[in-house]
Amino acid sequence: MSKSIIERIEDLRKKIRHHDYLYYVKNEPEISDYEYDQLMLELTKLENEHPELITPDSPTQRVGGEPTKEFPTVIHSIQMLSLSNTYSEGELYEFDRRVKGLLPGEEYSYVTELKIDGVAISLIYRGGILVQGATRGDGVRGDDITNNLKTIRSIPLKVLELPNELMDEFEVRGEVYMTKKNFENLNRERELAEEKTFANARNATAGSLKLQDPKEVAQRHLTTFIYSLITANQAEKDCCNEHFKSLNLLDSMGFPVNKNRRLCKNIKEVMEFCRYWEEKRDSLEYDIDGVVVKINSFRQQSILGSTAKSPRWAIAYKFKAKHAETILKDITWQVGRTGTVTPVAELEPVVLAGSTISRATLHNIDEIKKKDIRIGDRVHIEKGGDVIPKVVEPLKEFRTGEITPVTPPEVCPVCGEHLERPPGEAALRCPNIACPAQVARRIAHFASRTAMDIEGLGPSLIDQLTSRKIISDPGDLYFLKKDDIVNLERMAEKSAQNLLDGIEASKSRPLERVIFALGIRYIGIGAARILAIRYQSLDKLMNAKLEELSSLEGIGEKTARSIVNFFKKKENLVLIDKLRKGGVKLKKEIKKEKPEIFAGKTFVLTGKLESFTREEASEIIIENGGNVSSGVSKKTDFVLAGENPGSKLEKALKLNVKIINEEEFKEMLNSK
Ligand code: NAD
Repeated sequence: MSKSIIERIEDLRKKIRHHDYLYYVKNEPEISDYEYDQLMLELTKLENEHPELITPDSPTQRVGGEPTKEFPTVIHSIQMLSLSNTYSEGELYEFDRRVKGLLPGEEYSYVTELKIDGVAISLIYRGGILVQGATRGDGVRGDDITNNLKTIRSIPLKVLELPNELMDEFEVRGEVYMTKKNFENLNRERELAEEKTFANARNATAGSLKLQDPKEVAQRHLTTFIYSLITANQAEKDCCNEHFKSLNLLDSMGFPVNKNRRLCKNIKEVMEFCRYWEEKRDSLEYDIDGVVVKINSFRQQSILGSTAKSPRWAIAYKFKAKHAETILKDITWQVGRTGTVTPVAELEPVVLAGSTISRATLHNIDEIKKKDIRIGDRVHIEKGGDVIPKVVEPLKEFRTGEITPVTPPEVCPVCGEHLERPPGEAALRCPNIACPAQVARRIAHFASRTAMDIEGLGPSLIDQLTSRKIISDPGDLYFLKKDDIVNLERMAEKSAQNLLDGIEASKSRPLERVIFALGIRYIGIGAARILAIRYQSLDKLMNAKLEELSSLEGIGEKTARSIVNFFKKKENLVLIDKLRKGGVKLKKEIKKEKPEIFAGKTFVLTGKLESFTREEASEIIIENGGNVSSGVSKKTDFVLAGENPGSKLEKALKLNVKIINEEEFKEMLNSK
């Protein structure tokens, strides 16, 4: 055997493992699904030609993901497999020939469904009540994310109707997804908050399901489609011995089943369905990346069986990612809220997946250098289930004459200040905090939905207000008069009043939103909530010491440093002063007078609690006068240990710290 084949196989495995990690663990894929599937296809082909080279750890032998460390693990009673896939009609006919060969002389039919581009889940119901929800993980073991899944409104906690045959226990599987619109809103907000945006709705969904706090998950507005029912001795149960029948049954039980499904008599009808949806996919509110084709009868499904990775009775017909070629006319540099300067590709407009694209992301200067993208290049752009178009690569063979590599700007394109590049960071930064672009972005962040939610304050109004120097920071909003705004472009008496009303309403937003709105680096809404719970007022947060902040559960050293630095800067103190004078509420609402039963006591939390999230438990402790710290030390009074506690428990035992369980904690609460 030639050495080069062994090397190529190893090389492909290494690449695939790398991309699996980026896709399943980090939710930040670098290549499109199509490119990934081509790597997998090549590996499968080589392994088929040289079966002696197949190893159990080859990516072809297992289902994609991995359970994470943060959640308890569940074992799937029936493996959650992947699907074999194809991008070609020919291979679909090939699949049908294989099926025919394995079911000699039998009639069979197919069910076609849309392949929702989301994240697979399994839900277990006992007596019609949801008892467990899990991710697919590696197919054998997944994460128990029951509490997160319970926040999804379309998942029934109790079924509407329960057929006798499903009385004991049954499982349903489906896909959690985010609509295109919710995904765009989420990314827009993240962009404003200078948090990393997600490449597509699927990654945003996967990232959301991994959040530790179900309240945050609820804010992501996830939804589901259920596409399979699993129950014991299914082939013998009248209610659901066929897949199509079971989908209709699920529908009547109150599960969200996608209505775009069809029972097909033969592969020709399957192909019609595939072609129809490849054409119409953009008209849906959610992303689909293909069509799933399944054998209808469960008896026949079990005859066909499965390989290690996927069932032989189903195949996914995947749509090709959408590509286009166009000219990169220019690269412009956009200045963000904290001064980050990022490159944007200005393109010769081109139609891609039904919309005209004239701009695309380029991430940062290192990416431009790595791909050697130059102005004037013919470039390959892509939008594959991904909403944000990106420049995949330059087509160097089209280069004619001299085109020079891109040099990053030395001065800020908006204010002219010399740019800095902090060591270890890929981004360029404009250090001038009065830079009009930064000011406008800060105000937009302040007014955004997750922050102060000021209705009527959009980008063009902000631009007018800042460029005319009517306001110079978000604090000035609270001193605006109607006369200041009524004469601006596209403003009139009524819209001016609406804006003032919106600003007035924002004065009573909860403290966590105010903290988030300030735009402290690394503080997302989750961290802001932790700070609001711990400090209860902005004044107390402003006086917090570095060591104390970094010892808080959920706030790391880097974030703590950023908070302290923020409150040292004069301009930020001026802003807070304006907010105070303008009447913005800077304290957390105290619900009622309570005896402080935990006064002076420090708690550390470990493991998963049954009746509250860790954040809720922290809130209760703090409201009752206690403290919550992230690490166990001699100063810790109690370690509250839930299910699957971590190393904190061992440390507590070593240091002789009192360990309490959830029941004891509740008793302490009730004893007041
Ligand atoms: P898959 O996405 O190709 O198909 C299987 C999945 O389809 C199921 O687990 C289920 O979640 C989903 N599905 C949606 N609608 C369904 C329906 N109606 N019926 C049944 N299942 C339905 O396979 P996978 O194992 O989840 O993921 C592998 C794929 O992920 C690869 O083919 C590739 O496209 C992509 N991937 C991409 C990268 C990258 O770097 N871009 C890396 C790893 C994987």
